[in-house]
Amino acid sequence: MNDAGHTRRALSGDAQAAARGRMVDEQLVARGIRDPQVLAAMREVPRHLFLPPELEALAYADRALPAEAGQTISQPWIVARMLELASIAPGARVLEVGTGTGYQTALLAWLAGHVWSLERLEPLAAGAAARLAALGVTNVRVRTGDGSLGWQEFAPYASVLAAAAAPHAPRALLDQLDEGGVLVAPVGGVRSQRLETWRRERDGFRTERHGECRFVPLIGRDAWSGDPDPGPEQQ
Ligand code: SAH
Repeated sequence: MNDAGHTRRALSGDAQAAARGRMVDEQLVARGIRDPQVLAAMREVPRHLFLPPELEALAYADRALPAEAGQTISQPWIVARMLELASIAPGARVLEVGTGTGYQTALLAWLAGHVWSLERLEPLAAGAAARLAALGVTNVRVRTGDGSLGWQEFAPYASVLAAAAAPHAPRALLDQLDEGGVLVAPVGGVRSQRLETWRRERDGFRTERHGECRFVPLIGRDAWSGDPDPGPEQQ
């Protein structure tokens, strides 16, 4: 079956579950993540399988980790926070910008009905798609492309999550939201940003800011143009 139920069954029951349970209790619950669905997804999805073997031992540590091509897999807490702010309903259609390793994509696939995910760098998109397929995640489509322009073909989305930092909320991502839908994105400078939510209402957008964060830059037509050097220590 091509849905979240299939993904949930495929991802359950691996040997690192105890470490994941501690991650959820000590890093997420202890710091205020409350959404039971988000906590359940973070308990189930095997983060270690999205990392190269030499980093597997750090998979459930309280930190971001390096990924291919100078990118990062975000700290578990910030991933959980973004998922919570995205308020994903079962069956929801979700757009993700910045697939990276595919870890957050797998979480979204667990929570949502279907996920469309865009990654700028082809080798990362291919690696993520292969990992998701190997795990039996079927309610996801990954494509190489510029996520600052969204993915018009499958719009509107109930939630849009950007896992890379934009100088402003990209217009296309706002336009592709359903009414009542929400964009969650780090917005600000190259070195530090604020996590923002933009909820689409009948007559405009309601914007909220949720604290400082630090992501790799969103590079695209409606974002940063070059490969700005953000320095080390990303979230
Ligand atoms: N959430 C991911 C980490 C994402 S890191 C994980 O769980 O592993 C941010 C990703 O955004 C990087 O892989 C980077 O290549 C990608 N990215 C940057 N600009 C982009 C753009 N315009 N469109 C799509 N992806 C982009």
